[in-house]
Amino acid sequence: MSRTLAFLGLGAMGWPMAAQLARHSNETGGRTLVWNRSEAKAEAHAREFGSEAVTLPEVAAADVIFSCLPTSAEVDEVLEALAGHLRAGTVWVDCTSGQPEAARRQAAALAKRGVAFLDAPVSGGPMGAQAGTLAVMVGGDPAVLEQVRGDLAFAGKVVHVGGLGTGFAVKAINNTLMAVNMWAAGEGLAALVRSGVDPHAALAVINASSGRSYPTETLIPQRVLTREFPVTFQLGLLAKDTGIALNVVQDARASAPVLLQVAALYRAAAHHVGAEADYSAALQLVEQLNGVELR
Ligand code: NDP
Repeated sequence: MSRTLAFLGLGAMGWPMAAQLARHSNETGGRTLVWNRSEAKAEAHAREFGSEAVTLPEVAAADVIFSCLPTSAEVDEVLEALAGHLRAGTVWVDCTSGQPEAARRQAAALAKRGVAFLDAPVSGGPMGAQAGTLAVMVGGDPAVLEQVRGDLAFAGKVVHVGGLGTGFAVKAINNTLMAVNMWAAGEGLAALVRSGVDPHAALAVINASSGRSYPTETLIPQRVLTREFPVTFQLGLLAKDTGIALNVVQDARASAPVLLQVAALYRAAAHHVGAEADYSAALQLVEQLNGVELR
């Protein structure tokens, strides 16, 4: 049966994710509608991938509405603007890295209109979206996930992690684990540089040893040591994610002093280095605290 899919928010992630949906629709005889706040992007997407640029109310024609916006606050805005147009039986899949509390609130508001909601944030960056290999962590009714599983053309791995809001909680903790690893690696390398060690040599052996991580293997060699800091994921968005992890810790009455500390450090880095810089540029604050450059 041909399906109509819609995607809201054609940013660094949404653009390639919606491209995967359009490719899938072209193969299955379905349609992919795209909407973006600045319309020119949606029109360019339609020209490049065969999606259809639409107005916000026209999105309501879709069987499945995907969103990938900066925070749950922007999802609230579009949800409110669309509310009067939504049709019962639609499924809303929010791929924003959002707030668990917002997922439960938004799902309750949509349920009044017969619309089901899943929180389904993603990991893998724009490259993973282009390759169709994103990891998707899904919160909500597992039966609703089965209704849309075949539509998740951008996914390499889809895992149902629990009830509403748990996808957002897992995403926030995942990104905070990456943030802990990156910050700790930056501090360790700064201490080694101050001790006269070449950071390239340090990473060459750390990456063959037990201290290695995604930041030591990929982020720091490719983005920090090159001094390129290419913007694929904004530091302000990572600081937002570590802040959501704070809420997860507090709501669960958990004891997590390292996670709390790292959230404060990334907030400081976003203020100091700039929220629109690449997330790897957080290590510029570590460099300044140590009077060294990692190059
Ligand atoms: P971008 O900043 O690249 O894109 C943001 C998108 O949201 C744009 O389409 C923008 O529209 C739209 N937007 C912003 N404000 C509003 C608003 N008030 N109303 C409607 N639309 C709005 O962000 P990313 O794609 O990087 O991130 C999106 C989400 O995905 C975030 O939650 C992020 O944490 C998460 N994420 C990001 C990853 C990455 O590597 N970049 C990886 C995994 C998750 P416009 O074009 O008009 O500005």
